[in-house]
Amino acid sequence: MASTETQAMTTGDDDAAIAELYEVVERQRAGFLTDPFPSLAERHELLGALAGMLMSHRSQIQEALSSDFGVHPPLAADLIEILGPAGRAVYAAEQLESWMAPEPRAADPALYGSGRAFVQPQPKGVIGNIVPWNFPFDLSVGPLIEMLAAGNRVVIKPSEYTPACAELLQEMVRATFDRDRVDVVVGGLGLARAFTRVRWDHLLYTGSPAIGREIAKAAAEQLVPVTLELGGKCPAILTADSIDAESVKQVIGTKSLKNGQMCISVDYCLVPREQLEEFARLAADHVRESMPGYCTSDSCTGMISSRHAQRIETMLDEARARGCDVRPLEDAGELDPATRQLPISLVLDPPDDLALMQEEVFGPILPVKAYDELDEAIAHVNAGERPLALYVFSKQEALAEDVLRRTTSGGACVNSAAVHGALASLPFGGIGQSGSGRHHGVEGFREFSNPRGVFVRGEEDLIEAFAPSYGPAAQAVADAAFAGGA
Ligand code: NAD
Repeated sequence: MASTETQAMTTGDDDAAIAELYEVVERQRAGFLTDPFPSLAERHELLGALAGMLMSHRSQIQEALSSDFGVHPPLAADLIEILGPAGRAVYAAEQLESWMAPEPRAADPALYGSGRAFVQPQPKGVIGNIVPWNFPFDLSVGPLIEMLAAGNRVVIKPSEYTPACAELLQEMVRATFDRDRVDVVVGGLGLARAFTRVRWDHLLYTGSPAIGREIAKAAAEQLVPVTLELGGKCPAILTADSIDAESVKQVIGTKSLKNGQMCISVDYCLVPREQLEEFARLAADHVRESMPGYCTSDSCTGMISSRHAQRIETMLDEARARGCDVRPLEDAGELDPATRQLPISLVLDPPDDLALMQEEVFGPILPVKAYDELDEAIAHVNAGERPLALYVFSKQEALAEDVLRRTTSGGACVNSAAVHGALASLPFGGIGQSGSGRHHGVEGFREFSNPRGVFVRGEEDLIEAFAPSYGPAAQAVADAAFAGGA
């Protein structure tokens, strides 16, 4: 198999993959027309098959992730990439009957007689799903759950940075589902671009805001509705009463998940100025005592490519060159290009114009900004783009609620970080530059459904009054409405 680096740079040679994409889409469109409204039982079966597919490929999934990341903790594969979406499929299956049920809506009997109005969630049709490299299974098979629950057909396009995971995903999806129901297409950037030009019934894109903009433009050309799951800088605001071992453990624990390569990682912290040193000490103590040898162990995920590792090192070099206090929490020695593991580094109170404060870090750097008043921390967050997630740590519930009320983000946690993303029952997504639309749970089901508003005529209504030629019937309806004030 070609290395991640080589694959990622490949832009040509996608002609065959593009031709296959068009075939796959045509096959799925034809499939949709023959069975446009799968029954509850059919959808249950699909969700059961999806969960079974993940559970039965445990070792292959672990191996593929290790191959693409250099090092990938097998238990992180179990918990996040297998059990996470498998549990989400079980949850969707349990809720599905109520999600699919038509929802009655008001229809004034004075006008509509015994007619009925309701919203019927209807499958949209054929959906495209463009997946990034950081969670190759959770971000492909995860949204597939609500897409299938909503009765759709789905084509998945994995990232060119994860060739081993892409190959496995294609193999296991084709062994589990009919190809006119779910399929996976694999290729380079040529395929990625062609994928955005298909006239999907809905397109989901997960990745960076920069490419998200390109996707939105391509989708707009065809009026394709699009869900954008993007990134950004997710802050953790720590109030004065929360600078303790437990909060720091939550922050560092979240940062070490995928070694920071997670969209809802804590991107940076905001800490009271007089407690900055205490925060740094607690972080160093935590890594020394609870995660000894972390950055060379198999609990530490490698950077996805040498280019990504280099980007992190360049950010740190810039901070050092600007005289910042940069504190690696471990001594890692030279970077091994095969494993690409990096230690977590704190950068204390960096200026806002550094790359690590301008860009999403997406790696093991934790900038810790100092603030003097909580209002200043809130103003700092509100001056930036609206984040995908925001975390607040405080012992005072009212204070945490106040921070939540005065800030806007896609999701949020109090006294923890990223946990909202693990809950199948909560909607997941961003706002503004961090994305639009939701997957997970009932909001995901609705995102991938057409909320068809339906009226079924009954008896003794006045609807004929609305059609020309207007005469006494229309006059009576208008007179009654004006007399009633509505
Ligand atoms: P990436 O490089 O793997 O790209 C994502 C996908 O976009 C890939 O499938 C790729 O082939 C495709 N792509 C790239 N260029 C394209 C183009 N010009 N046209 C069409 N498709 C194209 O991943 P990335 O962008 O480096 O991912 C990291 C970003 O994703 C971070 O910003 C992160 O926060 C965000 N992210 C968001 C979520 C979320 O749920 N909101 C989840 C994970 C990652």
